[in-house]
Parts: sequence; C-alpha cells; structure tokens
Amino acid sequence: MAKKQFKAESKRLLELMINSIYTNKEIFLRELISNASDALDKRHYLSLTDPDHKVAKKDLTITITRDKENRQLIIEDTGIGMSAEEMEKNLGTIARSGSAEFVAQMEKAAKNVDIIGQFGVGFYSAFMVAKKITVESRSALSDEGFCWGSSGQDGYTITPIEKEQIGTRITLDLKDDTDDEKYSDYLQEYKIRDLVKKYSDYVRYPINMEVLKSIPDPTDENETIDTPEMETLNSMIPLWKKNKSKIKDEEYNEFYKSKFADWEDPAKVIHYNIEGNISYTALMYIPAKAPSDFYYQTYESGLQLYTKGVFIMDKAKDLLPDHFRFVRGLVDSDDLNLNISREILQQDRQVKALAKSIEKKIQSALEDMLKNEREKYEKFFDEFGLNLKYGIYKDYGLHKDQLQDLLMFRSDKEGKYVTLKEYTENMKDDQKVIYYACGKSLEEINKLPALEKIHDKGYEVLCFLHDIDEFCVQMMRDYDGKQFQSITTADLDLDSEEEKKDREEKTEANKDMLSAMKDALGEAVKEVRISSRLKDDPVCVVAAEGPSLDMERYMANEQNAMFGKIKANKILEINPDHAIFGKLQEIYRDHPEQIGDYADVLFQQALLIQGLPIEDPVAYTKKITELMIRSN
Ligand code: ADP
Repeated sequence: MAKKQFKAESKRLLELMINSIYTNKEIFLRELISNASDALDKRHYLSLTDPDHKVAKKDLTITITRDKENRQLIIEDTGIGMSAEEMEKNLGTIARSGSAEFVAQMEKAAKNVDIIGQFGVGFYSAFMVAKKITVESRSALSDEGFCWGSSGQDGYTITPIEKEQIGTRITLDLKDDTDDEKYSDYLQEYKIRDLVKKYSDYVRYPINMEVLKSIPDPTDENETIDTPEMETLNSMIPLWKKNKSKIKDEEYNEFYKSKFADWEDPAKVIHYNIEGNISYTALMYIPAKAPSDFYYQTYESGLQLYTKGVFIMDKAKDLLPDHFRFVRGLVDSDDLNLNISREILQQDRQVKALAKSIEKKIQSALEDMLKNEREKYEKFFDEFGLNLKYGIYKDYGLHKDQLQDLLMFRSDKEGKYVTLKEYTENMKDDQKVIYYACGKSLEEINKLPALEKIHDKGYEVLCFLHDIDEFCVQMMRDYDGKQFQSITTADLDLDSEEEKKDREEKTEANKDMLSAMKDALGEAVKEVRISSRLKDDPVCVVAAEGPSLDMERYMANEQNAMFGKIKANKILEINPDHAIFGKLQEIYRDHPEQIGDYADVLFQQALLIQGLPIEDPVAYTKKITELMIRSN
C-alpha cells in the first residue's frame, strides 16, 4: 500500500512535534478531547436537524481506554466521524487556521519551546507522545469505515476497514520511556483522571474511562476486591453556563475556593452572559482578602480563558486591566479560537473588545457595591483600594475619570470613609479646594498643628494614610474642577482681609528677628515667617512650591531610595499668639546671639511633629538640655 506524503507545511509541524522538547506534552489529551467534543457537537446538530440521523444524547460520548499491555492509549468518540476524503484533507494537511503561522513562529524562535502548550496545535500534538497514530473512523453520512495510520514524517496511509459504530477511534502507540520522559504515565488512571479534570472538566459530553473500584470481598469481610467500572471523569456542566437563578451562593463559593485556591468565600460574584459582537460568559470573583503576595511584583493576575468549555489558558493577563487585577475568574467565549496564543491575545481586536467589555462589567459591579453595599465596599477598599489608587497613578491619570469615583479616603471627621463626591458635596460655600493631610495614622494627622485653623473654618480634611495617596491626587490634579491642597503647603489662603493685615503688621514689626532666625537656620529653610494657620501650637513647618513634605518623607524611606533623596522647600512658621513668641522677642532683644539656638530647636520640633526625620538628634538634645539649664 502506497504511502502518501504530508504537505510540506504539515511535515514541518510534525517534525516540531516529534522532536519536541516541550515539557508540557500532556496538552495532547486536551486537543484530542476537544476534537472529539467538536465532532460530537456536529453529530448532535445533525441529529437535531435531520430525522434520518437521529441519535440519543446519551450515546454521544468520549471513551478513554488504557491498554497497558500494548502500551496504547485510545480515545474514542461517537461523533460525526470522517470519510476517506475528510481524513485526507483534515489529517494530511494542517487544518488549523493558526497552525501555519505557528510553524513559522516556532521555526523563527526555535528556543521558545513554551509556545506549543499555549497554542495547542491540534491533532498533530499527539505526535509529542506517540510514535504511531491510528485513526479509525466512520462518518455519520457513510456506511464505510477508514483507517488512517502514520508513524510520523515518512507519510501516512488510508485504508478501508470494517467499523460498526459511527465516530472516531484514535489509538496512540506511546513512545518508549526515556530518562527524562515517562510516556507510560499516560496509561495510569490517576494521570488521565488529573488531565481530564485539569483541562477538559467542562466538556459537555461524558468522558468515560474504566477505573478500578474497591468493593468489599463477599468471601472475606476484611478484604476488598478491585473491580473495573466505567466512570465519567468530567463534571460536564460548567457552573458558569448554568442559569444564574439556579445557582446557590454555596455553589459559587465552593467553585471559587476549589478553583482559585482560596480558603475564604469571595466578597462578590460577577456572573453574566453576553451575546453580541463577541459572545461570552464570565464568572468572576472579588476575593474577600488580598492574597499575601498581591502587592508584590511576583503576583500573577489574569483570568482563565475557555473556548466552548475547553480550557485554553490560565492567567490571561490581557483580559484584565491592571487596576482590576484583584479579580479572579474565567471567561468562556465561543468566538475565540482554541489555538489562540498569549501573543495573539495581546494583539487580537476581538480580544481587546472582550477585555473592554469585561472591564466595564467589573467597573459597574464595583459602582453597584459602593452604592448599595457600602459596608462591603469599605471592606473591599481596605483590601484593594491601594490598587485602584495605584491604577490612577501608574498610567499617568489615564483612567482618572473611570476610577476616581471608586476612591475613598478617611475623613478627619470621625475617621469615616468618604468618596470624593461625598467630600465635594459637603464642601462649605466659601471652600475652594479639597484639603488633605498626610500621616501614618488618624491620630498623628489629628495632631498636626496646621489642622486647627481648617477645623475652625469647619472644613473637612481627607487623611492620606498611604504613601501612594498624595502621588495619586497629584496625578489627578483635581476632582470635579476642585484642586487638591495639602494643609502643609505654604499658601493655604485661609485668612480674612483683617487677619492678613494683622499678619503683615506683625511681620513688619519683627522682621529683623525673623531674618536672624532664617540666617541661623541657613539652607534648611527658605523662610521663617509669622503663621496664620496655628492656634495652640508654637511652630510648624510647611512646604513652599516643589515637592511636599510628605513626598520628602516618602522618599526618605530606604525602600524608595531609587527615587533619590528629594527635599521640600521648607518654611518655618511661628505662632505670633503663642507664649513662645513673646519669649523669642525677649531673647532677641536681650541676647540676640542666642536666637539661633531657639530657632534651631523650634525648627527640629516642627520637623518631628510633621513626622520628618531630624538630621542630628544628638545635637538637638544637647541644645535642649543647654536651654533648660540656661532658663533656670
Ligand atoms: P482543528 O481541530 O483546529 O480543526 P486539528 O488538527 O486538531 O485541527 O484537526 C483537524 C481536523 O480533523 C478537524 O478540524 C476535524 O475536521 C478533523 N478531526 C480531528 N479529530 C476528529 C474527530 N475525533 N472526529 C472527527 N473529525 C476529527
């Protein structure tokens, strides 16, 4: 019998498969099962549309047989089958649309072996594990059966055979085991069971296999006998394809926990089905707690991708924008190709549309949670709020409009969470900007000297407790036309005309003392001036234009050393109504040479209150001690 030659392209693909050093060879089973499932779909359709070809749904099955003796793995389906011509056409050439491109890519990047598993190259992938493949098939539209056989590159044969049952039976003669590769593993029950669970659990037809079950030995109650029994290995109905109203919370939760290895129930389930330009079903979850490595570079985000219930890839990043990277779940689309690669995912227009649609749904789920389940949302925000802020910062404010209303900050009023919308709605009539203060805790912020005056005005202040907060609002610039302003910036502009006049007079009257203090502090400050923001505290330090005090503090942190050390332009402000002011005037009048020491101690104090490090704590304490001695 004459051997037929593979088409040139197919030959190259085969070569790649046969000599594959790809470690994830196991995907061959997914590919064969997926082909079988497609064939069953076609037969099912035929049965539904043509009364001459009726077949009971229960007879549409996939059977896996492990023949250890002959070292054969057999995958059989009762699907549509193939005629001789179809075998010729489908198995003799590359059938897959993406395969030609795949081969080209593979040959270009021969070292990039990982690519195979992601692509899935269909039927030919079986050559990664088999030295010989036999396909026996009978088409539903024919009485004749045919056998296709090939041991690889040297070609294939097609011969007529007797086949009673409609469908296809693929026999793999497994390769010999090597030191690196135990092909005989594919004859083990546990292995096949695992692979079916992993890749094909949700195939809609039963995948049956004979397994050994232990039953009690009737002759000896202490013994069991292993008896062969047919078992369906897959669960068949994907949860996400079930009707939402029929799914119980526990089902959603159990599925989440087992699938995404979390031990806590999720905070929110997002499950929907969309028919349109691109049709898909998504089942997504917002975890209750951020995984411990969530805020580290190593954390891998992304959604699982299925096509027609067949698992394609895990953690498909391109389906999930970074600002929503906390979402876990899966997407099942009938419109995507099985052989889609990560590379294709990145560029594909359909995938982009899919990702956009997913993003919108997550967005509205979050908005909905904020509106209707406030408590839950606040918990969510405790876990993942940072990621939203980071999202605004990271892409230079590109997603500002989309994300800003999902943000919350603690208010200085009772420390409760407020959104920016709530804040601006509550703004006083004469209030022009959104005030914020940075600190490590609410207590620390509440002690900030600069807060008093703002409280007197009845303004609310947002407490920025995370380093990213200030960077985030700087990137946003404004909210609803209202600028953000730190209460420690130089120009708070809170004074009435009268107060301004009063300050100017006091400044004029004390100008020599103020400039003597500035001289004593040198480069450390830009200016020493009379304050209008202080009530009970003697001094405070504020930042002139340029980096803020909190940014300086952030950059001073070891971990952020890569940013380099940046310094705010500091201004030391003195409270003219505080007892210390009279004391300073007295010192300057009687002992002007001592004013420098006082200026220095007050400046260091102001830094400490602000949570900024002081450069020379030893010198500082020494000076305090001297002043204590002197005052007695
Ligand atoms: P793809 O499945 O992407 O088309 P494959 O190389 O896996 O590519 O398969 C090539 C073709 O062979 C399929 O399109 C199908 O027509 C046919 N085929 C493969 N397996 C079967 C099967 N079990 N039953 C019927 N036809 C099959």
